[in-house]
Amino acid sequence: MDLGIKGKRALVCAASKGLGRGCAEALAEAGVDLVINSRTEDEIIRTAGEIADRHGVSVTPVAADITTEDGRARVLDAAGQIDILVNNAGGPPPGTWTDWNRDDFIKAIDANMLTAIALMQALVPGMMDRGWGRVVNITSQSVRSPIAVLGLSNTARAGLTGFVAGMSRQVAGHGVCVNNILPGIHATDRADSLDKGVSQQQGISMDEARAQRQAGIPTGTYGQPEDFGATCAFLCSEHAKFIIGQNILLDGGALNVTI
Ligand code: NAP
Repeated sequence: MDLGIKGKRALVCAASKGLGRGCAEALAEAGVDLVINSRTEDEIIRTAGEIADRHGVSVTPVAADITTEDGRARVLDAAGQIDILVNNAGGPPPGTWTDWNRDDFIKAIDANMLTAIALMQALVPGMMDRGWGRVVNITSQSVRSPIAVLGLSNTARAGLTGFVAGMSRQVAGHGVCVNNILPGIHATDRADSLDKGVSQQQGISMDEARAQRQAGIPTGTYGQPEDFGATCAFLCSEHAKFIIGQNILLDGGALNVTI
């Protein structure tokens, strides 16, 4: 299917690996020129080179912490005019509900709520002026069903979801579609580190921890970043113009819900 976005320009945050990279690859495959970001300079430069070589699009890497004002300013400066924004950042650490203090909450809210809002506030007005835009926020299945050890994620991402529910309806009339994708467990470094937590907590091997977590998913597998990226690219496509303010759950059926 032709996604109808060849020649558009996208900013994909936190994209040197994992889900962000999956989105960047799928957009590049659709002919979209990219600005990609993550903190580790050599990794983001290498990723940019690999994506550009594979798909023949322009890919500009920006090494910056997207959760800081300074980092965002540098990314926005390099980005210029953007048609497609994919918001992403690292997830907060696990723990229990009594563990976290005010600073921990502020950090999680900054990273997983306010950063995405700031980037939308910076880039969506230009999309509205030009009459076309797409935003995908990578959130989590924790928005639909809280994950006990990820209370910081449950909290911050619920805030972003509420914001998007309201603003997406206010910009849709200008050709801008804002939606969220909610990953369940995907095979990335983030999944490895959460597997490690289960392994240490229960005194079992990494393979046992992974098998235990996979057993809770009807597909019996973790999701793949490439498939996640393909869904993101569709939400950024011309064909997604009637999809507004939705929360698309990609979890292999893990959440036992009717709708
Ligand atoms: P990942 O494989 O660990 O990749 C994270 C990417 O983000 C890397 O490129 C990393 O590069 C970059 N990054 C992290 N913090 C950053 C920052 N402050 N500024 C800029 N770039 C940053 O993680 P993932 O699995 O793709 O997860 C992406 C998001 O989805 C996270 O918020 C995660 O919590 C959420 N999520 C993931 C899963 C899952 O199972 N994978 C499930 C639900 C939700 P640098 O370290 O070099 O910056």
